[in-house]
Amino acid sequence: MPRLIRWTLLLCLLLPLAGCRQEPGVFEYELAAFGTEIHVLLVAEGQAAADQAALELNTLFQQQHRQWHAWEPGMLVEINHAIAESRPMSVSPPVQALLEQATALEVASGGLFNPAIGKLLALWGFHSSTLPAGPPPDPGQIHVLLEEAPSMTQLQFRAGALYSSNPAVQIDLGAFFKGVAVEQGLALLQQAGVEHALISAGGDVGVIGQRGTRPWRVAIRHPDGRGGRLLAALDLNAGEFLFTSGNYLRYRESDGVRHGHILDPRSGYPARQVRSVTVLGRQGGPIDAAATALAVADREEWPAIAAAMQVQEVLRVNEEGYVELTPGMAARLDWLQEPDQIELVVLPEKKRGN
Ligand code: AMP
Ligand code: MG
Repeated sequence: MPRLIRWTLLLCLLLPLAGCRQEPGVFEYELAAFGTEIHVLLVAEGQAAADQAALELNTLFQQQHRQWHAWEPGMLVEINHAIAESRPMSVSPPVQALLEQATALEVASGGLFNPAIGKLLALWGFHSSTLPAGPPPDPGQIHVLLEEAPSMTQLQFRAGALYSSNPAVQIDLGAFFKGVAVEQGLALLQQAGVEHALISAGGDVGVIGQRGTRPWRVAIRHPDGRGGRLLAALDLNAGEFLFTSGNYLRYRESDGVRHGHILDPRSGYPARQVRSVTVLGRQGGPIDAAATALAVADREEWPAIAAAMQVQEVLRVNEEGYVELTPGMAARLDWLQEPDQIELVVLPEKKRGN
């Protein structure tokens, strides 16, 4: 029997849009976009309805991928060219709204989530599908880019056109867009008549409804350096998102030192505080941005930043291995590998979100 299950899964992976039935009414699909595998489970009346919904979802993700990719030719690359040449660029209202949302999140994060640091990310070699090799970039070059102080707050919108007061701004929504995509993907499925679905973009998950009579159950990877083991599992309520950021999966390495893909915009160097941060909440984009910001934040500052970003529940696995988490997160988790050291952290009340 296990062999049969393996074959079924393999078939699902090989046939992205041929729906695989997991159990009565649950169909499974593997899509690829945003440089990651996207796993979709949806509950539908039958194969034809499920395939149609998955097809529409795939069309949306491919469109979004072309629009928002940071270095493959598309709309964002055109926007970045226009900014570098100090030219205005006309943008649609939804594009403006998305960039304004990213700007508000940058401000709320105190600049730790900064989607304007595209030049710095490119300098580190992270604008490539293959991981860069060799030593870190020259400190002088990093310093030059820090001095340019790019920020989303330097963007202005006038009469449907985007201007930047700083030509050094280069937008990279890698820390935010997966959350937006999962959120918009679930909204599309709902419009297509699907009431129960799970979308996991490389382990970052959002759900609507539930799986039959049970909630959707998901696992959080153990940031043990390879991402192979599982740390904890939990049930997600309808409408919840669970996003994890960490420097343990995508990094460059030289002389045995790993340089992760999440950069601290203050220093220009990879964040070193944490192995991973998992955030639970009800909005994909903000949760995604928050997970990245909290992976940059120092131990003393992260609770205030979480509160300012209206985050509800956080799990932070620090570089030394001990775990900090909010009481609400602790109540939701079933440990699969109980950490040695756990500290409960209550977020500041005043700014706490809904
Ligand atoms: P995530 O996996 O959501 O934490 O996003 C990581 C990606 O976001 C990286 O691969 C970069 O493209 C981008 N990024 C890295 N550091 C930052 C930062 N401090 N603020 C905004 N985006 C970042
Ligand atoms: Mg993120």
